[in-house]
Amino acid sequence: MTADLLVTGAELVATVDDARREIPGGWVAVTDGLVSAIGGAGDPQPEAASTIDASGCLVTPGLVNTHHHLYQNLTRAFAPALTGGLFDWLRTLYPLWARLDEEAAYVSAYIGLTELALGGCTTSTDHLYVHPRASGDLIAAEIAAARDLGMRFHPTRGSMSLSEKDGGLPPDSVVQDDDEILADSERLVAEFHDRSPAAMTRIALAPCSPFSVSTSLMTRTAELAERLDVRLHTHLCETEDENAFCLEQFGRRPVDYLADVGWLTDRTWLAHVVWPDAGEVARLGAARVGAAHCPSSNMILGSGLAPVAELRAAGAPVGLGVDGSASSDSASMWLEARTAMLQGKLRHGAGSMSARDALEIATRGGAASHRPAGEIGELSVGACGDLVVWALDGVAFAGALSDPVEAWLRCGPVSARHTVVAGRPVVTDGVPAHSGLGEQLARHRRVSARLQG
Ligand SMILES: [Zn+2]
Repeated sequence: MTADLLVTGAELVATVDDARREIPGGWVAVTDGLVSAIGGAGDPQPEAASTIDASGCLVTPGLVNTHHHLYQNLTRAFAPALTGGLFDWLRTLYPLWARLDEEAAYVSAYIGLTELALGGCTTSTDHLYVHPRASGDLIAAEIAAARDLGMRFHPTRGSMSLSEKDGGLPPDSVVQDDDEILADSERLVAEFHDRSPAAMTRIALAPCSPFSVSTSLMTRTAELAERLDVRLHTHLCETEDENAFCLEQFGRRPVDYLADVGWLTDRTWLAHVVWPDAGEVARLGAARVGAAHCPSSNMILGSGLAPVAELRAAGAPVGLGVDGSASSDSASMWLEARTAMLQGKLRHGAGSMSARDALEIATRGGAASHRPAGEIGELSVGACGDLVVWALDGVAFAGALSDPVEAWLRCGPVSARHTVVAGRPVVTDGVPAHSGLGEQLARHRRVSARLQG
């Protein structure tokens, strides 16, 4: 049978499959959006309708971004919010985000997903938790952008229901009531959640954080997720301020609170998880609660160093997140993988975290919080045809002859040469395949100026 795409002649194919096979001189064929064959230099290759020459390149599965707020690229590096910790940063930006509308959601998703694709990401989640009154269908607008670009997309229906007058952090203008949030969550799942293994769109439910939603919304969202069989996401244990807030507001620490509202299950994945104590790490691991490690954001907001090795050892699936474009400002999964590797070495010694560990977290680690094994985050027959071709040449790689995977993450900085989703190119020769970038950048500038003005 003729394949749709053949990626051939790689320096190395790092499959990150169950056996963690690495194939020198390897090739990957994609047919009908799925990986249809993988082989080495001596294996017969299928005929293909199109071919990508990967000579001199590392080929990996597409990277899986497990935490983001795409809309925040409209307020990147916003001067009045550059020096505060998480709570100050949020209070400065909430009033700007109250101006979001469908055009802002579309254009921020278009630019943000393009940025992610250039950094080797093929599946991204998004956590859009600001839904101002009369702002329209923001999640549908984001999904339209992902479809235009051909990115695999897992937006979450974010929410905030606890405003300042009720003891929460956000102003009244950006919160909704619980019934409205739950009804809209159910509508979005019915309209967009695709349960097929090759799905391009999946929806999860995502109250923003303990300090911005009511206890009843947390409980009722968990019940709804169970009934609809969709995943649950929120921010947890990001800062010591949050620990103090939870102790004062609820009389318990964040992980105890999470257990009380019915979220301590493998349906849940959490952004950040910087401040669990040893006992809480063990409880999260035993329950297989996933973690989205966001190393750049955690450093830029001064939040702390997450216990990644401890969480993994306890059994929690750990993935990587670029986090919102207004906190980490840059959105490259390659950069997050490198930063995760550096933080791992800083915490536990040079031998404690390799480039392969970081690649694993960035691919199948994140995939484990989102889908059954074998769908994304690995290159194996039957998995989604999502892969990245990384050039290992030029000045940055001169002299790096002995280990392509270590070289990939130690040398650089690196962008993807080719990013492929479901067998279709999203980035070709380092350039986005969709032709609308110039127009959307101009539109993004106009919308950003309106929000910041
Ligand atoms: Zn976040």
